[in-house]
Amino acid sequence: MSSQNWEELQFATRAIRTGHHRTAEGEHSEPIFTTSSYVFASAAEAAARFSGAQAGNIYSRFTNPTVRAFEERLATLEGGDCAVATASGMAAILATCMGLLRSGERIVASRSLFGSTTMLFNKYLARFGIETVYVPPTDLGAWEAAIDDRTRLLFCETPSNPLMEMVDLRQLADLAHRHDCLLAVDNCFCTPALQRPLEFGADVVVHSATKYLDGQGRCVGGAVVGNRQIVGEEVYGVLRTAGVTLSPFNAWIFLKGLETLELRMLAHSQNAAQLAAWLHTQPAVAQVYYPGLPGHPQQHLVGSQQRTGGGIVTFAVHGGQAAAWQLIDATRLLSITANLGDTKTTITHPATTTHGRLTAEERAAVGISDGLIRIAVGLESIHDIQADLAFHTLPPL
Ligand SMILES: *Cc1c(COP(=O)(O)O)cnc(C)c1O
Repeated sequence: MSSQNWEELQFATRAIRTGHHRTAEGEHSEPIFTTSSYVFASAAEAAARFSGAQAGNIYSRFTNPTVRAFEERLATLEGGDCAVATASGMAAILATCMGLLRSGERIVASRSLFGSTTMLFNKYLARFGIETVYVPPTDLGAWEAAIDDRTRLLFCETPSNPLMEMVDLRQLADLAHRHDCLLAVDNCFCTPALQRPLEFGADVVVHSATKYLDGQGRCVGGAVVGNRQIVGEEVYGVLRTAGVTLSPFNAWIFLKGLETLELRMLAHSQNAAQLAAWLHTQPAVAQVYYPGLPGHPQQHLVGSQQRTGGGIVTFAVHGGQAAAWQLIDATRLLSITANLGDTKTTITHPATTTHGRLTAEERAAVGISDGLIRIAVGLESIHDIQADLAFHTLPPL
């Protein structure tokens, strides 16, 4: 299969066929290599591997064939030269920052980031002299104003969690490069099936594979994708030394997840779009946040930057936290959990869970109201998801 030119194949084909280099056993499905180390033919070969003169496996903290299969497959899907897999999504972000930044440098980041990412930047990177400045993700002028001569990295998620604001990646990448910075994008919500940030000029894509890449809520992992210098050398260097590597078993689950990624993302999007349109008609709902819904401020990016609206729908109910909790507790089918990217639909109250560590003022500043509910729409029948949320089960608000 190595003679195949993968660039010529469609996304769905690459998601199924790339990465697996069949062994002499002739296996059809990708094998799981559960080995911690590898054997050399001679002392001279061992020395050549260790010195780097000869490519090849040494130890599974550095490389593992199953992990590499996942890395190759994800890299072709994102359109990157190279990917490295990590123990979790947070490990991917940590390895990226450790690989690319030095003490005294600055990150300019979207203020709408996954909670642990903000924590990593504020509490831990700050300790090592790396400062982070936050800006409203869609305000290009604010990004530019926050960049100073110590700034090395811009970091964003698009669409953002939970308000589904979309960052114009082309504009942000151009801005980054004008100021000699790199742009890293957390592509967890869209996956490469819906959005490929590298095509718009981003330098690094990070993933929590835990979410849609797995797709069935089974295990934790992550990845960093980009070019050979940034990812293959600088990020990988941290990984092989610091050890936040992915287990081969988890890599195998993600490999299998990638095979159905495009189908799933389109189905998640179809369910979510339908749910968003229906929520929009409900009197109990004050506002719906979904890319592609008429009136979304960055609607023009759906179809150009981002193929569909994706699988996450956020909405605000009238009546604040009490009404939101009442609605969440009235569901029978939906899972009350903050995870997302599962075939099972999940429902969460951001103000008291994912964003609960922020102060009331901080939440107000980023638009997280007490009546906000986030649904990660799964692949159950949309009829049943909608019925579970039917507001007639609630007393009038
Ligand atoms: C879950 C998530 C992460 C962290 O990933 P883990 O696999 O839980 O470490 C990072 N970014 C986003 C957007 C996420 O949803």
